[in-house]
Amino acid sequence: MRISLIFLAFFFSLATFAGIEQAPPSFFYNYQKIVWADFQDAHYSLVYDIKKQKATATTTINFHLQEAGYPVFDNVTTPTKVYINGEETRQSLIPMPQNVTQARIVETYLEAGDHQLIIESPISNGTRWNRVSQGPRHKKVVSVASGFFIKDLTDRLFLEKYVPSNYEYDQYKMTFDVKILNSKVSHNVFANGDVTELAKNHIRIEYPQWYGSSSVFFHLVPKSRFVRYYLTYPSIDGRQIPIIIYSAFRFFNKMLKDRAFEVLAELENDYGPWPHPQVLIYGNNIRGGMEYPGATATSLVSLGHELQHSYFAKGLVPANGNSGWMDEAIASWRDKGHQTHELPFFSHSNIGGQSIYKRNTDKRSYEYGRSFMAYVDYRLKEIGKAGLKDFLRQYFEKRKFTTVTTEDFRSDLEEYAQMSFELDFDQYIYGQSIEKNNVHSHYHENPHHPQLTIEELESLI
Ligand SMILES: [Zn+2]
Repeated sequence: MRISLIFLAFFFSLATFAGIEQAPPSFFYNYQKIVWADFQDAHYSLVYDIKKQKATATTTINFHLQEAGYPVFDNVTTPTKVYINGEETRQSLIPMPQNVTQARIVETYLEAGDHQLIIESPISNGTRWNRVSQGPRHKKVVSVASGFFIKDLTDRLFLEKYVPSNYEYDQYKMTFDVKILNSKVSHNVFANGDVTELAKNHIRIEYPQWYGSSSVFFHLVPKSRFVRYYLTYPSIDGRQIPIIIYSAFRFFNKMLKDRAFEVLAELENDYGPWPHPQVLIYGNNIRGGMEYPGATATSLVSLGHELQHSYFAKGLVPANGNSGWMDEAIASWRDKGHQTHELPFFSHSNIGGQSIYKRNTDKRSYEYGRSFMAYVDYRLKEIGKAGLKDFLRQYFEKRKFTTVTTEDFRSDLEEYAQMSFELDFDQYIYGQSIEKNNVHSHYHENPHHPQLTIEELESLI
């Protein structure tokens, strides 16, 4: 009895702090050992000063190091000040192994153990100052809009684009304390966390402990902007789930609402109760959409695809760039009506077998991944199982709110099917045979996640 209790405690502590075991290996750069941090919590103080037209983030990160060295974090904008354990230090931007991306390191050698990092940085990405005309020559800034919108097909477009963060493997408690200074205009935040208005233009957001760099939905706007719908959705588990829909037009909100109710019924029927405490939909006319846990910024056409991602991609989360293919494979398999195919249409690929230091998802994941899922469905039905949807429901229930790798998916699938898929993954996912296909000749843009121009992305803010 005692042993099993200790075992259980061990098991749950692993589950709670999952993440660091999925970090890439430490490595040497300029004879310095570069190591990966396990963030415990991060407090973001975000200040938007209307008079100065200046937005800054002061980020306090408590983290643990399993081995001594120089720890990695990332922030696309250059930090102005960095302190480690109370002492000012420096940071630098370095290439990751094989030059697949860049990230920052703290330039202080640290022993294994607990440390505190404080970073001051500008919030220049995703911030727009709204001006009103005060006569023919004079325009005055009266309010601000700030949106931390992410993309996973392009490198360094997760939370690190806006404020300091870690690689996607890490799950940690994030708190945003948001202040808008020197503005008469009232602002509010749309977020997939607990939002509390502490005072006019002072807002606190607490995000769940299992969130990481690809989870946060944060959109700060003047209160007068957007038409808002506040509704509830009756979940199959009895909850009345709050839904917020906002867009520029009332009729558009209505269309989004009707479609969302249809899709939520379908998804709950297929994969169980909606896994998040809310549904947040930012409707816009940008092509495609993007998914967050219990939230999406999307066009009407992509709404179903993005809501499904609240289960696969944002209800269980890819641990790294090599795991992101599964999100698009599963969502695209649904988009095309859950097909079943005797063989994939392609001979081999390495969509899940690239550098472990890479963060973004391979663009071929939609077409290749969907075809691979249709093949898995065929193989399961061939041996008398109910099929891929039945497996996915169980896989989701077991793994929700954790970070998953391709190997987690494969081992659960093999356990479900009681057969090996090793050769299939080697050939179609890991590219163990010669990789002849290349991204450019075989890549067709996916309509749900098109490559957006800078202007298109900025128009969302
Ligand atoms: Zn997608």
